[in-house]
Amino acid sequence: MLAFLRCPACGGKLEPLGREGGREFPLGPFRCLSCAHTFPLRHGLPDFRLRECFAPSNRLFRALYDLYAPLYDRLENALAKLMWPDFSEVELREEIAACLERLRPE
Ligand SMILES: [Zn+2]
Repeated sequence: MLAFLRCPACGGKLEPLGREGGREFPLGPFRCLSCAHTFPLRHGLPDFRLRECFAPSNRLFRALYDLYAPLYDRLENALAKLMWPDFSEVELREEIAACLERLRPE
């Protein structure tokens, strides 16, 4: 698994530091071998969140998405009827799923 982990800041390989606060952890905390960004443990798990994820603009979009989430199905269904009146929303989903299925490697 470690071979697949990459730094979310730059994509560099991560080095497990193995120890934090005098305790040993086989999978973290981590340090990026390219940019030296460190990812501490949070509740025993590596915390890969970047500071820019908490920028005010991202918090605003999160609030907007949270407001929109309860209305998502009804509004998207109404929008689909406006744009493609000959298809139901279910038919559109099935058509998209069929297109994706054709792209699946064998
Ligand atoms: Zn990095």
